[in-house]
Amino acid sequence: TGKFIVGGNWKCNGTAESVKSLVKELNSGKIDADVDVYVAPPFVFIPRVQKELNNKNYAVAAQNCWVSAGGAFTGEVSADMLADADIPWVILGHSERRALCGETNEFVGEKTKYALSKGLKVALCIGETLEQREAGTTLDICRAQLKAVNDVVTAADWENIVIAYEPVWAIGTGKVATPDQAQEVHAGIRKWCADNISPAIASKIRIQYGGSVNAGNCDELAQKEDIDGFLVGGASLIGEAFVTICNSAK
Ligand code: 13P
Repeated sequence: TGKFIVGGNWKCNGTAESVKSLVKELNSGKIDADVDVYVAPPFVFIPRVQKELNNKNYAVAAQNCWVSAGGAFTGEVSADMLADADIPWVILGHSERRALCGETNEFVGEKTKYALSKGLKVALCIGETLEQREAGTTLDICRAQLKAVNDVVTAADWENIVIAYEPVWAIGTGKVATPDQAQEVHAGIRKWCADNISPAIASKIRIQYGGSVNAGNCDELAQKEDIDGFLVGGASLIGEAFVTICNSAK
């Protein structure tokens, strides 16, 4: 698979002051040359981060964007605006937006298609709830989330998508998936890609794991064959922890 890739999802956190010191910590951290990294600040902090984050290892991402071009969509930011503002990445389909903002699989599919059409790279989040895991439907849920995207994009579009498998029960709970649990789902996702997109895409698409990743558990997870990176929430707000995760032993 491709280069290891780590994302920092700052979610709805931060102040001008805390962002300033986090960026300072990130600037002084040493990142392995063979890792791709993106950080996703809240929109209002993106210009500051673009200006002050001078460690060339880091790309900037948005945490969301609108489903189509701009217009009368109060409170939204379009993919066109992200591209125009030199923001190369966008996170789409995060479970918090699915659960709290009512984003359906189909809506996430349309968003992904539109963002890709504007030249953005997409970190596409998928994952099951605890209830779904306990019901044994984890892979069915992930496949349905992927299918809704695959129904509206081309096989070539997947070159610009990174999949982030984030089991909802592991997000912000301190209950990280075991390396075997994560590996099992990642392998299932890769197989789905081989069967439904193409074997070539399946072999190179990067699948990040997200959910309570920290500086202490990242190495063991990163050893797993189908874990190609991480999407980090809480620990991405701590510069030293995030840099350690970026440098996970592979
Ligand atoms: P935590 O790392 O805080 O569990 O969050 C994971 C996540 O949702 C990243 O998008």
